[in-house]
Amino acid sequence: MQEAIINKAKQLLADGTVDRVIGWKRGEFAYDITPAVFGSAEEIDADFVYDDFTSANVSKYLVKETKKEGKVLVFLKPCDTYSLNQLTKEHRVDREKVYVVGIPGGPKLDIEKIKAKGISGILSVKNENYTLKIETIYGEETMPFSEAILDKCASCKSKKHVVYDELIGEDGEVLESNRFDMVEQLENMTAEERYNFWREQLSKCIRCNACRNVCPACTCEKCVFDNPESGVENKAASDSFEENMFHIIRAFHVAGRCTDCGECSRVCPQNIPLHLLNRKFIKDINSLYGEYQAGEDTTSRAPLTDYTFDDCEASIVHERGVE
Ligand code: SF4
Ligand code: SF4
Ligand code: SF4
Repeated sequence: MQEAIINKAKQLLADGTVDRVIGWKRGEFAYDITPAVFGSAEEIDADFVYDDFTSANVSKYLVKETKKEGKVLVFLKPCDTYSLNQLTKEHRVDREKVYVVGIPGGPKLDIEKIKAKGISGILSVKNENYTLKIETIYGEETMPFSEAILDKCASCKSKKHVVYDELIGEDGEVLESNRFDMVEQLENMTAEERYNFWREQLSKCIRCNACRNVCPACTCEKCVFDNPESGVENKAASDSFEENMFHIIRAFHVAGRCTDCGECSRVCPQNIPLHLLNRKFIKDINSLYGEYQAGEDTTSRAPLTDYTFDDCEASIVHERGVE
């Protein structure tokens, strides 16, 4: 797949379809793949990487890239195309300046799950028939591919690209996902158990802002958390109230706009399952206003920014059993 993607990028640069390419390059380690912008075939040959660790959703980078001159090529996995649609719908990305090549999705790998097996000093990870051959400074280790799948890929909602100019490979289908299973488990807890669950998780937050910075729904020119006059500006939380507040404010800000891309949880250095908070909002919106998938299209009105005479009243929410 890497070869097909690289050839496509070089072809579209050479024939003038695009002026630059958003893709991925190797970071500090072989498994540390990071988004990057490439301006020439030479740069692509030198650094472009696409492998089992290429999990980053690069759609958010289009916000800045489409403010520049010229057209940009972006390679999007199925889940990433929902983010682009949402960004287009919110007028954050100029779709005319983007050339989208849809590429097959995961499952992608989570290096933390490999390290959790006690494997350290990792030099490279190869997938051979769904067995991982892990070269380390201490020798070779193996483990099943299935035990190292990223959480966001394990609960994939769709293998279908909702926007593209051309595809590499076949398109897939929207899936019957298990993504709300854990949300239901949380709903079945008592209020106290649920509060304790979230306190335990959110108390680990070091307020690094990685979740906000990676989120395609968080593209405000001036984020409330960057405003020193707001009273909620960037700083380490001083108590549990402030720990909760950051996450609750952000969850409300992205409600109805979160495409469930899973990036917030993927990048959290404290492994906080932030996506569960956002999924609770998605599940409730589905229940209260009818099935809705943010990013599925660029034209529909979102439930929280629309009004219909069928909208539920707060008084009947409880009757429907939504906690
Ligand atoms: S990425 Fe994790 S640690 Fe960083 S601010 Fe978000 S929740 Fe907190
Ligand atoms: S809140 Fe998390 S899952 Fe939702 S769009 Fe942002 S990064 Fe993706
Ligand atoms: S947290 Fe709220 S204000 Fe800040 S970028 Fe996200 S949506 Fe915008």
